[in-house]
Amino acid sequence: MQTTLAIIKPDAADKEDEIAWRIQREGFSVKMRRRITLTKEQAGEFYQEHVGKPFYAELVKFMTSGPIVVLALQKFHAIEEWRKLIGPTNSHKARETAPESLRALYGTDNTRNACHGSDSPKSADREVLFFFGGVTSP
Ligand code: ATP
Repeated sequence: MQTTLAIIKPDAADKEDEIAWRIQREGFSVKMRRRITLTKEQAGEFYQEHVGKPFYAELVKFMTSGPIVVLALQKFHAIEEWRKLIGPTNSHKARETAPESLRALYGTDNTRNACHGSDSPKSADREVLFFFGGVTSP
């Protein structure tokens, strides 16, 4: 079993019930859940790898614009499976190439893209620690 960190971003937080249904149907179990509103400092720290990129300020502004839902999801190959379920970063591309993906269904563009997913086991560990203090057992 693997754990990944999923975020339902501010643009899709009000669709949590629909997304939760999809998460369940795709065979993930929700180990932990928090609904929070990030401060600018927290969003900046979470996305520290993007500091200096042209979209960084817009990303931090978006991620602090309302509540988010943070989930620790468990499944075999959870990291890859969740990234497959959310689809490509750009929601326009997602609608073309993965129309059933969460970003195709709930995202708007390249920044407002509904969901986040850890991109490696190392990121998943860091991100679970960031939001849940590293508690990964049931
Ligand atoms: P995430 O990390 O949220 O799962 P990702 O791995 O697909 O998404 P990253 O490259 O890690 O994408 O970028 C983090 C977030 O920054 C993206 O989800 C998106 O909201 C925003 N972003 C990434 N690239 C761009 C871009 N070129 N223009 C605008 N926003 C972007």
